[in-house]
Amino acid sequence: MSEVVFTVAIDGPAAAGKGTISRAVAERFGFAHLDTGALYRAVGVKGGDPILAAQTLEAADLQRGDLRSLEAGQAASRVAAIPEVRAALLEFQRRFARRDGGAVLDGRDIGTVICPAAEVKLYVTASAGIRARRRWLELGGEAGPKPFEAVLAEVVERDERDMNRADAPLKPAEDALIIDTSDLSIEEAVAAAVAAVIAARAASQGE
Ligand code: C5P
Repeated sequence: MSEVVFTVAIDGPAAAGKGTISRAVAERFGFAHLDTGALYRAVGVKGGDPILAAQTLEAADLQRGDLRSLEAGQAASRVAAIPEVRAALLEFQRRFARRDGGAVLDGRDIGTVICPAAEVKLYVTASAGIRARRRWLELGGEAGPKPFEAVLAEVVERDERDMNRADAPLKPAEDALIIDTSDLSIEEAVAAAVAAVIAARAASQGE
């Protein structure tokens, strides 16, 4: 008997809370989770020709310890604007989205390009200042390597590049539920996402 195919697509800008929400939703419903940003980060830090790097990406490339750095994020957003890089990563993400047992994918174009038929589409966002503050605190705040203004400038630069590229720009799918986490606790943001999944599951089971 085939298991249930059910996709939760979670898009949004850097440091809006997508990762935290995705992991919590995947755990709550027993779905598999794919952080698609890690694919672009791995291509960005691999060096050499980014198209070749995307075409030959291996599981070991995703285990690198430096993937979460600000530099890896910037490198990811540069290679992510190359259509051949996106094309090389597309099929893997699509197959993951429709695997048996349910899947949560978070990224920039999951609800718009990778899986427009996703049963749940969320767009998780927050003001640039709040997102930069979260990233800055993650890096150690005052004791960390960068002043707040530098982190803010990087967040704004990455938003600009991700939202204005020609191929698969960051934007909410037309039918996405927008969750603005600027004034929400983690628990409240996760609860909003979980409620959307419960409602969509009830709707799909009633069909
Ligand atoms: O989400 P994360 O910050 O790890 O993503 C790093 C970069 O990878 C983003 O700034 C974006 O340019 C790119 N990306 C993308 N499409 C995705 C996921 C990430 O273009 N689905």
